[in-house]
Amino acid sequence: MILFKNCRFVKELTEGFVQEMGDVLVDDKDTIAEIAEPGAIAAPEGCRIVDAEGGTLLPGFFDMHVHLTMDSLDFLPYVARRPEDHWAETYSYAREMLKQGYTTVRDAGGAYNVVKGVRDAQRKGYINVPDILSSGQALTPTEMGNETFGPMYSVCDGPMEVRKAARHQLELGNDVIKYMVTGAYLNEGGLPGQQIVTEDELREAVRIADMKDTHVMGHAHSAEGIKTAIRCGLRTVEHGSFIDEEAIRMLKESDRTFLVPTAAIGLACLDEDANNLSEGMVDTSKKYEQIEKDCVNRAYRAGLKLGFGSDIDKENFVAHPGMEFYARHEWFDFEYVDILKQATINSAEILGMDDRKGTICVGKNAELVVIDGKPDIDINDMKQMPRYVYFHGELIEN
Ligand SMILES: [Zn+2]
Repeated sequence: MILFKNCRFVKELTEGFVQEMGDVLVDDKDTIAEIAEPGAIAAPEGCRIVDAEGGTLLPGFFDMHVHLTMDSLDFLPYVARRPEDHWAETYSYAREMLKQGYTTVRDAGGAYNVVKGVRDAQRKGYINVPDILSSGQALTPTEMGNETFGPMYSVCDGPMEVRKAARHQLELGNDVIKYMVTGAYLNEGGLPGQQIVTEDELREAVRIADMKDTHVMGHAHSAEGIKTAIRCGLRTVEHGSFIDEEAIRMLKESDRTFLVPTAAIGLACLDEDANNLSEGMVDTSKKYEQIEKDCVNRAYRAGLKLGFGSDIDKENFVAHPGMEFYARHEWFDFEYVDILKQATINSAEILGMDDRKGTICVGKNAELVVIDGKPDIDINDMKQMPRYVYFHGELIEN
């Protein structure tokens, strides 16, 4: 058991308790047992006590779009790396994510089937990293630049090949299907504005995922690609960079498809020196920077429920704590509280996990993060490592 004393709450992320300050008791099953005003809970015998000293207590964060095998944005060593050597990189990235307060991550495509292996090690309790949803290799049509990502991709053309490829990723034990619907920024020769998959191919992937009670996440920048993804019934549209009014309207009317913008990768791709990016990649990013900001801001102002995804590599993630949080403000101009909601309750709802994750609430999982400061009032407080992260019985002190 563990008792967190003198916690400050963000009311939008706390259920069943309305005061700003309080104590939180966690039981032996890692469930939130009680929330009460400061000093009101008597610590049971043997209970560990942590004084948050007025720090803000948040529920664990989600990253719905991460590539846990991706240690840097330099893909040459990535493609050359042996399958067995991806394991340590993947574990190390996942562990860094937990240290920054992430307790649930959805992998958006990785080399071989390594992420699933790390996921299983976590589920067996051998390692403590966030809860992982793995997608295995991302499905993509035959397309210029696929070789940039090498073993991260599974190439399939036509509905029958898609059927086989989707079934194969699930056969390997993966949780969800990732599909490349349009070209990518980081794909040499690819055009983010171009749709590269046909509707019958995408529908086939959704059909297979539906049968297995899971979903398809679709990489889509262009408005046409986004609309195709919505029509085909994908669960999430990733990036959504050039979303238009019609696509925004379609998402507003849909209770099946949600948008997951990714801001941190946008910031990183403008950093010419730091990331070993080719001139072409940086130019592409600069060319579309303002369009992407305007389009995604329009989707946000329209009141869409947005998920939280970073698409960032480990090197940037570690060098810039809280990157996706402040990037959503700097890159997209989202409100602070909304950013915090996107990282927690919104993403939990989109993934259907809000019965046990996403808020501080009696009966929900004790996935807890203590931040020094008030990130709902200044999101820059997320730039420091959390003071404490509590997950699966482990208290991480940064
Ligand atoms: Zn991605």
